[in-house]
Amino acid sequence: AAKTEERNTFRFYTPMMHADARKRLLLGADLRQALARDEFYLVYQPSIELRSGRVVAVEALLRWRHPTRGELLPDEFIPLAESLGLIRRIDSWTMQNVREQIRRWDLARLPPLRVAMNVSASTFGHPSFVDDVKQAVQTNGLPAKQLLIEITESAILRLGEDTERTMHALHALGIGVAIDDFGTGYSSLAYLKLSAVDYFKIDRSFVSGLPGEGNDVAIVEAMLAIAKSLGIGTIAEGIETKAQHDFLLRAGCGEGQGYLYARPLAASEIERMLLTPNARPGATRLRLVPPE
Ligand code: C2E
Ligand code: MG
Ligand code: MG
Ligand code: MG
Repeated sequence: AAKTEERNTFRFYTPMMHADARKRLLLGADLRQALARDEFYLVYQPSIELRSGRVVAVEALLRWRHPTRGELLPDEFIPLAESLGLIRRIDSWTMQNVREQIRRWDLARLPPLRVAMNVSASTFGHPSFVDDVKQAVQTNGLPAKQLLIEITESAILRLGEDTERTMHALHALGIGVAIDDFGTGYSSLAYLKLSAVDYFKIDRSFVSGLPGEGNDVAIVEAMLAIAKSLGIGTIAEGIETKAQHDFLLRAGCGEGQGYLYARPLAASEIERMLLTPNARPGATRLRLVPPE
């Protein structure tokens, strides 16, 4: 019986695996063309100062407008881009576009926003990364303090000792460094060198259990306490409910991002939101922002 089952299993799965590999192959071929065909674009998710309800920053998030499959999210193509060796070029495209967007918002007379961007491990760990960033910032006379580079905790662990040097070099340029998905890397905090870190971004997986899950409450409170004693800023990800907002505000978290306030938006929507404060999503609908 086992043998029959095995054979059936074999027959059942093989075409599936082929289909999957084929799909990836095709997607990879498309991905190689995507930059040249100008199919990437960025959306921006506001980050709210919890105390005031003000939008103080945005995070740039990559989207791929695929010619036949429509909008694809990073989880559907970043790992593939990494395995095909395309990620450095993509991250560099993002950097350039973030830089241009900061300049356009500045020309439109928006209040200066901090703009965060994500980089993959192989980009962050590349020997020329700091020079690339330096050049990108200097070319446009971009205030370095408006830029925040996000690197995941697991990428830091994977990269090892060079990360610390890179973080310090960015820090010396005045560019902010955030540890993204903080708490998910299973790292001992003692191992992480934190002196050049400006923000922890507390991962959504901990925020989602607030305020009911005792475990998440304890972990989040511990992360906030460490951040506070080290003078590191805190940004909670994936805030979806008023109860999560209230908990984080009371626990002393600095900023929050999440669908409660705003989804990732087009640059033009960010502009409208900040130039007409009453149109701010969340603020008006959810009345989180006390009138000033
Ligand atoms: P991340 O940096 O942790 O970004 C947060 C993700 O959570 C985003 O997904 C965002 O849309 C989503 N999110 C925000 N608020 C909520 C919420 O309230 N509820 C829920 N359920 N989700 C929320 P997204 O845009 O799909 O990005 C996924 C990841 O892809 C990012 O995680 C980041 O690591 C990576 N990524 C995004 N853009 C780039 C890029 O330009 N370069 C590289 N290398 N990676 C990128
Ligand atoms: Mg991020
Ligand atoms: Mg994150
Ligand atoms: Mg996350």
